[in-house]
Amino acid sequence: RAKGAGGANFQFYEPGMQLSASRTLQLENALRWALERHELELHYQPQIELSTGRVTGCEALLRWTHPQLGSVAPSEFMPIAEASGLILPIGEWVLRTAVAQNKAWQQAGLAPVVMAVNVSAVQFRQTQFPALVRLVLEEAGLEPGWLELELTESVVSADPEAAIRIMKQLDSLGLQLSVDDFGTGYSSLSYLKRFPIDKLKIDQSFVRDLGSDPDSALIVSGVIAMARALGLRTTAEGVETAEQAAMLAHEGSDEVQGYWYARPMPAEQYERWLQDYLATTRAPGIV
Ligand code: C2E
Ligand code: MG
Ligand code: MG
Ligand code: MG
Repeated sequence: RAKGAGGANFQFYEPGMQLSASRTLQLENALRWALERHELELHYQPQIELSTGRVTGCEALLRWTHPQLGSVAPSEFMPIAEASGLILPIGEWVLRTAVAQNKAWQQAGLAPVVMAVNVSAVQFRQTQFPALVRLVLEEAGLEPGWLELELTESVVSADPEAAIRIMKQLDSLGLQLSVDDFGTGYSSLSYLKRFPIDKLKIDQSFVRDLGSDPDSALIVSGVIAMARALGLRTTAEGVETAEQAAMLAHEGSDEVQGYWYARPMPAEQYERWLQDYLATTRAPGIV
């Protein structure tokens, strides 16, 4: 276990720790090459409006398949990408790819949807970020209203006033802003009122426990009521069962997203799913 290396200068040594430290290093090194080796891919998960059953949006989610290590989860590589700064080129690639894909779908005649892209706090803090977003939209020729940036509460907490300034710059481009994983961070409700945001995404932890934990149900209905009062839309994340969907419809969530409707899928599979979905008659709200 903890082996003394002499004097007060001893080190901890545990096989498990060693392994995970070297895996982190291995992943960081591999991630440096992931872009140019075409190991990154976006998957798309539809978002459905409960009142109409329409697909109104989709979220782009990053996937990494390493030739030896196989698929690595975002929960494992995103922290590494952020700590190493690799999130900057990777995040830019995500933004370009998602925006170009949305434009391509529109040009192919698919019913337009809002493309939601996750933005890390590290990207958001770059002073040139709003200019980059504007450039990417211009280059692709996508109407800004068809892009949504998902920000987490962590973006805001460090320096709320600076965050509000950047959000206002982004808002002035004409795109949509949402707060992801809402309810898990520490953003003060008084700031929420000052953010130029359009939507709250209710964190999947509350949705998961909807049927079993009365507190989660209370939180969900509270968030929806508050969003309404502030003129914001809500999307419930992680909807896995018909029961959860029915409860969310009852509470008045505007949109839903989750395995119950569709998993995140590669572009071609998303297109097939969409055709299938449109071909099937469904009653609004019940899918
Ligand atoms: P997120 O933005 O909150 O994305 C939702 C996560 O929930 C995704 O996990 C999605 O695959 C998963 N999910 C969707 N429906 C369900 C469901 O019904 N049940 C369950 N259990 N999970 C569901 P994923 O793709 O593993 O991504 C995890 C997180 O990694 C994301 O959470 C986001 O914070 C981050 N991430 C993913 N792609 C990107 C990216 O391109 N840029 C940045 N900055 N972060 C990303
Ligand atoms: Mg998200
Ligand atoms: Mg706006
Ligand atoms: Mg989320």
